[in-house]
Amino acid sequence: MTSMEKIQSIKGMKDLLPQDTWMWQRVEDAYRRVMALYNYREIRIPALEKTALFARSIGEETDIVRKEMYTFVDQGGDDLSLRPEGTAGVVRAYIQHSLSIQEPVSKLYYIGPMFRRERPQKGRYRQFYQAGSEIFGAPEPLADIELVIMLRDFFTQLGMQDVTYACNHLGTPESRKAYTQRLIEFFRKDADRLCEDCRRRLETNPLRILDCKQEGCREIIARSPSIESGRPESSSRDFDRFVEGLTDAGVNVRVEPRLVRGLDYYTGIIFEGVTAGPEEGEDSLAIVGGGRYDDLVGQLGGPVTAAVGYAIGLERVIDLCAGRLGPEKVPDVFVVFMGGEAEKVSMRLLHDLRGRGWSCDFDPRAGSLKSQMKRADKCASRFVLVLGEEEVRSGKIKLRDLRSGEQADVSMDDLQKIVGEKLDRVQ
Ligand code: AMP
Repeated sequence: MTSMEKIQSIKGMKDLLPQDTWMWQRVEDAYRRVMALYNYREIRIPALEKTALFARSIGEETDIVRKEMYTFVDQGGDDLSLRPEGTAGVVRAYIQHSLSIQEPVSKLYYIGPMFRRERPQKGRYRQFYQAGSEIFGAPEPLADIELVIMLRDFFTQLGMQDVTYACNHLGTPESRKAYTQRLIEFFRKDADRLCEDCRRRLETNPLRILDCKQEGCREIIARSPSIESGRPESSSRDFDRFVEGLTDAGVNVRVEPRLVRGLDYYTGIIFEGVTAGPEEGEDSLAIVGGGRYDDLVGQLGGPVTAAVGYAIGLERVIDLCAGRLGPEKVPDVFVVFMGGEAEKVSMRLLHDLRGRGWSCDFDPRAGSLKSQMKRADKCASRFVLVLGEEEVRSGKIKLRDLRSGEQADVSMDDLQKIVGEKLDRVQ
């Protein structure tokens, strides 16, 4: 590569440009608002962790750990990976900082980028953003119920009322083991008709076969034994409570006995929020996944602590609600000035107006009146103020209301009154 060749971003990792970032801010603000309403506190964890953390939590045999992590040995010889999801890091931090001693129940949330080297396609990236929440210390299904109700509230704020929550209960470790054995026996009979991945899963992680999307495998899966029959009473009772609690709250739940998730740490109730894709005729789209992972804190060396959480895929959410988020907020005022004295007055004016909480812009190139006006038009501010030598001398500023087209010469005092009133009305 010559030094003049342009360097492009990495495949599957996209830039979020200013024409889109305002939508991200709106969605993230909505998430933070809902978190504040439910009293969840933010946790920020590193993007890079020791590879062993993900191998021990997500599972050595999962697709994520086997083939999708960005893993490298750093200059100091440490085996590190970019986080492919948030829960493992949150659990590590929860243990490392003894949060269980500080409070018996912790309600936490995070927003940030995750990294998985998957095949890039629409709605699937190699760097993508998740917003997630976790509850530590509460084994009761009320915690699971709260999480899903919270999700419903968040999606409702974004105008997405049509999310359905598919859910299942994976039973206890013992019942899951027995169920896995039944699955192995069942799938062995048809092993030669399974896809290559599923044949391997049959040996390493048979539950994951249920998640295969291949046509041939789906047919066999449809006839496979259901998890419900061998599930202990206590699990089914918790699951019924969960489904009932959500139904009572008006949440769309759908029991799906063959639902499994791609991460090994899940133990009991699991759920996945799905909605129709943004284009007509598209397959339904998973926008959030989560569930119980009661063993993970203990497995990673912490005190045995029940836990439950979920992660929302923000790219998909933004794709789905993009049309409903607008319009982008424009500046309140754009200041145009001509001449040295007008420049000084304008700088003071900008400072003053911003001090009052109005968003203001100007063109620092201070070109011709025409070019500044063009720039004002482009940024579509609500008002334009024009200051020339004449205006400085008379103490009156030209105020143009771009929405009504009205124009008036106003004094400083009037300016603040007129602009303030109109802005109050439109905001
Ligand atoms: P998971 O962490 O695999 O349970 O995924 C939770 C949610 O994150 C999914 O429902 C997706 O919406 C989103 N997600 C997972 N992987 C990707 C990806 N590669 N690109 C974009 N979104 C993703």
